[in-house]
Amino acid sequence: MVTVTKETPVVSHWIDGKAVSVLPEKTGPVYNPATGNVVARVPRGGAPEIDAAVKAARKAFPAWRDMPLIARSAIFFAYRERCWEHREEMARLITREHGKTYPDALSEVVRGLETVEFACGLPIQLAGMNTPNVSTAVDVHTLRQPLGVAAGITPFNFPAMVPMWIYPIALMCGNTFIWKPSSHTPSATQLQAELWKEAGLPDGVFNIVYGGREAVDAIIENPGIDAIQFVGSTVVGRTVHERGVRAGKRVGCYTGAKNAMVVLPDADMELAADSAVASGYGSAGERCMAQSLVITVGDAAERLIPLIKERIDRLKVGPGMDLGVDMGPIYSAEHRESIIKWIDKGVEEGAKLVADGRSFYHKENPKGFFLGPTLFDNVKPEMTIYQEEIFGPVLGVVRATTYDEALGLINGHKYGNGTAIFTTNGGAARRFEMEVDVPMIGVNVPIPVPAGYLSFGGTRASSFADLQMRGEDSIRFFTKQKEVTVRWPRPGRQGPLSLVFPGNS
Ligand code: NAD
Repeated sequence: MVTVTKETPVVSHWIDGKAVSVLPEKTGPVYNPATGNVVARVPRGGAPEIDAAVKAARKAFPAWRDMPLIARSAIFFAYRERCWEHREEMARLITREHGKTYPDALSEVVRGLETVEFACGLPIQLAGMNTPNVSTAVDVHTLRQPLGVAAGITPFNFPAMVPMWIYPIALMCGNTFIWKPSSHTPSATQLQAELWKEAGLPDGVFNIVYGGREAVDAIIENPGIDAIQFVGSTVVGRTVHERGVRAGKRVGCYTGAKNAMVVLPDADMELAADSAVASGYGSAGERCMAQSLVITVGDAAERLIPLIKERIDRLKVGPGMDLGVDMGPIYSAEHRESIIKWIDKGVEEGAKLVADGRSFYHKENPKGFFLGPTLFDNVKPEMTIYQEEIFGPVLGVVRATTYDEALGLINGHKYGNGTAIFTTNGGAARRFEMEVDVPMIGVNVPIPVPAGYLSFGGTRASSFADLQMRGEDSIRFFTKQKEVTVRWPRPGRQGPLSLVFPGNS
């Protein structure tokens, strides 16, 4: 719930089905990045709030676990309907606090709902197996059971879609849930809690605690939490994984990225240019599936770069709610500064600056955290702007001589989240599919985020997890399996006592 005080609205933790108000001095500011103004305040929670959420979630667990699947599913259908009715409001809140354009935010909400919809139909996926006659009068059946209390720790860049990739499956599998969202974009988070309440979710099943490192530490250390899915940067995800596993929890962390699309000389260059610009600058480059590198093969760069530049010159940068805007501001003033430093570094390292977004200034919103689109040519693998994630509107072109060189660059990069190939040659695309060591691949598709009912996840420094998130992998992640061996001998056919290890004949 967002309570309106005489100054700014204060977002509340959500524990046991209720908003838990906090003292203003225990809150931090939430900005509208388009104006630079504070639009809300968000609590800074830690161990006490996580403890309270764990108590509520543990208390709610037995009844939620035992609720008939069809009744759970009915609540999910109701939640989906409410989210759909409120999708525009949710998108407006996302635009206000994240900065992405309103159509982009709306699309995020709708893509997130794909996984809620998948969860509505989960009962059939939770069916176990039954193997009759494994031995004389002995059958085995398997059960999928929830783990208990699961936690989700999520980033700023998708305040609705990424959490919706986690909590629907955790909940529908019968777990109760604690969400530790990003503090930069809390209002869409609160709306999701309220919509669950309206949908009839029992109190304590879904809880939210805001905060930073202290709250995350408390999640890792609290023995009442059985599993954690984390989405965010590599530096944080790596430690959450290490410490969480050491604490005996099931942990999956999906982390940073530096994705590259390959453009072969035979590609449809207009399509490749549209794709590079949409992927590199959409949401101001703050997407883990953005292609921030374009690896051209042979003479492709000569034809592609002018087409990308033409498109950059037409992009409209401004507040995300303004009609016709293509790219909104950067989510925070600090991140804007760090992107500028990356661009400075690229220039210093010798990459050729084709478009420079550093001096972009929005006349009506001089305090907004805006940057224009930046394009580098001649980016080399030894440069830090090639190696590191910038997470901003900065696209780098790397010129490779051959397909094998391009493939080697992608397979040798420390990150491996998404990739794409642009070509009109089916054989080349098929070869890429087989040889590239990145799990999410686009063929003439620049942002290959699979549909919400399929799994999602990277490799190398983009993932610290044994399973991907969403889809079948998430069902496995959020459940434990039991094998039950049952003997029902025919009346009067009980065999003799034997101390031999039981055989199956
Ligand atoms: P982040 O790592 O700063 O924050 C992620 C979560 O961790 C947030 O809830 C945050 O409050 C918390 N956190 C931040 N610092 C922490 C610390 N020192 N100790 C403990 N917890 C901490 O990430 P972000 O800036 O919010 O999001 C951007 C990052 O997320 C990028 O690296 C992006 O690639 C990645 N991302 C990955 C995926 C994916 O599926 N692989 C999806 C979206 C975003």
